[in-house]
Amino acid sequence: MPRDFLQSAQDSYDVVVIGSGLAGMTAANILGRAGHSVLLLEQHYKLGGLATWFKRPGGHIFDISLHGFPHGMIKSCKRYWNQAIADSIVPLKRIRFDNPVFSLTTSYHRDDFTRLLSEQFAVPRSTVDAFFDTARQMNFYDDQELTTGELFERFFPGRQDIVRLLMEPIVYANGSTLEDPALSYGIVFSNFMSKGVFTFEGGTDRLIQWMHDELRANGVDICIRCDVEQVIVERERVAAVKVNGRAIRTRSVVSNANLQSTIFRLVGERYFDSQFVDEARKVRVNNSSTQVYMALKPGEQIEESTGDLLFSSTAREFATDLLLSRDITSRTYSIYYPRTRPEGRARHLVVSSTNAKYEDWAGLTKEEYEQSKRDLIETTLDAAEKYLPNLRARVAHIEASTPVTFEHYTRHVAGSSFGTKFEGLAVSRALPEQVRGLYHAGSVGIIMSGWLGAINYGVIVANDVDACLMASTSGVSSSRSSE
Ligand SMILES: Cc1cc2nc3c(=O)[nH]c(=O)nc-3n(C[C@H](O)[C@H](O)[C@H](O)COP(=O)(O)OP(=O)(O)OC[C@H]3O[C@@H](n4cnc5c(N)ncnc54)[C@H](O)[C@@H]3O)c2cc1C
Repeated sequence: MPRDFLQSAQDSYDVVVIGSGLAGMTAANILGRAGHSVLLLEQHYKLGGLATWFKRPGGHIFDISLHGFPHGMIKSCKRYWNQAIADSIVPLKRIRFDNPVFSLTTSYHRDDFTRLLSEQFAVPRSTVDAFFDTARQMNFYDDQELTTGELFERFFPGRQDIVRLLMEPIVYANGSTLEDPALSYGIVFSNFMSKGVFTFEGGTDRLIQWMHDELRANGVDICIRCDVEQVIVERERVAAVKVNGRAIRTRSVVSNANLQSTIFRLVGERYFDSQFVDEARKVRVNNSSTQVYMALKPGEQIEESTGDLLFSSTAREFATDLLLSRDITSRTYSIYYPRTRPEGRARHLVVSSTNAKYEDWAGLTKEEYEQSKRDLIETTLDAAEKYLPNLRARVAHIEASTPVTFEHYTRHVAGSSFGTKFEGLAVSRALPEQVRGLYHAGSVGIIMSGWLGAINYGVIVANDVDACLMASTSGVSSSRSSE
């Protein structure tokens, strides 16, 4: 008989959270902690969504999206998770850039960037200060007409080299481009510049295990391998979710699934007004990426001077098209030293990431796809040997992922690494006005993406759901169960 993954689930809840990405888990945790009955449903066999990892024989553990996040994670994890999680967040030491125009190493703080811009790039100190102050003052309510490209042109006219320094890490951190609203750049850039780039000591596997334990401690019921098929709407409000052949009644749903999948697949367009449907259709998804995962043989080491994050490019110019092209010129290397997992085996790993378009990978035949992955691995090894001599001979395990891989594991439309573009935020926020009790928390609008953005968006939505549940006098009764 097939295993019943919903065995521990009750028949009704105050909240059902669909998807266990960082936004979904954070929303579930806050609502569980507030005393609501919460069921967290995940279609995959493990929690975390894109915040995930995989193991390979020989003791190699690869992190998929643990490359770097801003200092704000410490505060968010302390408040909305626990002290132990917050205490494991540590700074990355060396961020490197290497391209035909400049090579440098930085701590990625405002002070260090001010020094670099004024000394190495010869920009007057007053201009640098004015740029930083403008970026820091940006907020959600600002004019969205100004693009990031125009912002740079205002402060550093004609300076392609500076655009590259300022933009490359942010493209990597949230997929934004020169054509996106400047505020999506300014907010994220200022977050990083406040104290630099941080990581989670112990690896993604430890983080997600600790989050799981915290969710359970807060009474959240968790079911994996539960692919929600439908959100059932009755009298213009959420009534239940259909999953693994069962209908589980609920007063509210937080969908952490892709925004468009939530609207068009899980709920169905007939429950929304036509203007909203038009807006939802216009939402663009962010790009995806390819990655090459390399584990060095036991005993093989990487010099710390190689850096933690290395933004490498062979292109003379910085351009969005070049960053997404199949003809790869830009690669970001994350180097994982044994300190990433101090309690694990002393291994050195490298993950090379490159932004990519879903269309370039989705239409291939099986043979073409496998051959393209092999080419990606070979060209990445060639490129990485510039920084890691003789890498080919030193690698014990190597494999690649593509936009199709990300789509497969998380169901994201087009394997998007950072959800939707900016216009997704308004659509996501407007859901409860369309269907009462229906919420979305997950990577949208660039700012609400990445580890910190997703967690913070989970908090915002959890507060909305809490307010709605507290205000409502009717609904199914709330009772907690234990696993
Ligand atoms: C290669 C790569 C590198 C990245 N690097 C960084 C980085 O260095 N720093 C950073 O801050 N961010 C990084 N990110 C982005 C970051 O990982 C994501 O923005 C963030 O983890 C997304 O969280 P989320 O809550 O939006 O949900 P997701 O992680 O997208 O999770 C959504 C979850 O919903 C589940 N789901 C979907 N549909 C259903 C359904 N019908 N029923 C049940 N479950 C369902 C999925 O299985 C998934 O678990 C990277 C992303 C990628 C792909």
